[in-house]
Amino acid sequence: MKQLFLLLCLPVLVLAQSKKEQRLLKKADKIHARAYTVDTHADVPINMLEMESFDVGVKHNYNEDGTQIDFPRMKEGGMDAMFFAVYMAQGKRTPEGDAEAKQKALKIFQAIHDAVKKYPETAELVTTAKEGFVAHKKGKLGVFIGMENGWPVGHDLSNLKLYYDLGLRYITLAHSFNNDLSDSSGDPQGSEHGGVSKLGEQCIAEMNRLGIVVDVSHISDSAFYDVMRLSKAPVFASHSSCRALSDVKRNMTDDMIKLMASKGGVIQINFVADFLKKPSEEVAISIKTLRMQAMKADATPEDKKKINAELRQLKYKFPGEAPSVKTVVDHIDHVVKIAGIDHVGIGMDMDGGSDVVGCEDVSKIKNVTIELLRRGYSEKDIRKIWGENTMRVLAAAEKVAKELNTKP
Ligand SMILES: [Zn+2]
Repeated sequence: MKQLFLLLCLPVLVLAQSKKEQRLLKKADKIHARAYTVDTHADVPINMLEMESFDVGVKHNYNEDGTQIDFPRMKEGGMDAMFFAVYMAQGKRTPEGDAEAKQKALKIFQAIHDAVKKYPETAELVTTAKEGFVAHKKGKLGVFIGMENGWPVGHDLSNLKLYYDLGLRYITLAHSFNNDLSDSSGDPQGSEHGGVSKLGEQCIAEMNRLGIVVDVSHISDSAFYDVMRLSKAPVFASHSSCRALSDVKRNMTDDMIKLMASKGGVIQINFVADFLKKPSEEVAISIKTLRMQAMKADATPEDKKKINAELRQLKYKFPGEAPSVKTVVDHIDHVVKIAGIDHVGIGMDMDGGSDVVGCEDVSKIKNVTIELLRRGYSEKDIRKIWGENTMRVLAAAEKVAKELNTKP
């Protein structure tokens, strides 16, 4: 009898559940219509440069080509602005290598500028919080620029002004290997400078003077603490997650998150699977091997495409290991718990390894908002997470730059 009663109730329960889901979706829609949403790490320039026929103004399909960002999907998802990354894997640290890095960086800046110019009705290059809001008011997407790996700065700090004038507003000091500015968390050789180098120290001073945010993602723990001591402006981690929830070196410890927050900084949660959820030994080895192959200097775009497809397939081979939107919000919850709502943001690392069930590409970001609503976050909180906290750091860097330039 009881079973029969439950069976009869089931359609009602399902209906109530789906009504609740619809209400949440409506609420998320409303929030995205009003909020200014910013993601601090987008690797779409890789596709712009390496994928033949990739056009950021045309809608692509994640299931067909694995790409996660383009302007139409940003609009569809309610993503107002993203930091496009001038990224390169670390190469030879010689004068010739540095010159090559600079040329490559300039090529990526050009590709970003060209893409924005091609779609003047859709997108605009923006460099300040204010410019971002003005573009948003006009109904346009904002394209900010960040640099992942300070290698193209070389030994000539005047390059910083050159890149700043091209729109650059943050630099991740190092990528997966040590460079001349800083130690990396990923270098198999371990520490080389004991943190930030002497050159890195001068670089940070010049970044502060110009108003370029120091990004602490990827660098070693010692380098992070050096940045905390050296930077006169608040900093952020453009794409890092919590080490307390996934114990990998690329993530930040509670102590680091709290210290960065106490100085006004923000950790933007990364959506790369193993940073969200520590994989089993077996999967970790597969990930590491594939990533190392992708980072090889002679890896062709075709090779990288194949490797990325294999990385994506891992979650189907090991379904229990794939993180979901819930895992992402666990990391947000954790930062809020230890450092407060003003110090967490989002830097999904899409087109650079982002891999979350339920948020496969930028058109699906509302699922994150829905999960935040489910856990009781208010619209005010969600607006902070989705953009206001990041914009505050950007504005603070501008303010510090102004002060440093007016001091006698
Ligand atoms: Zn990265």
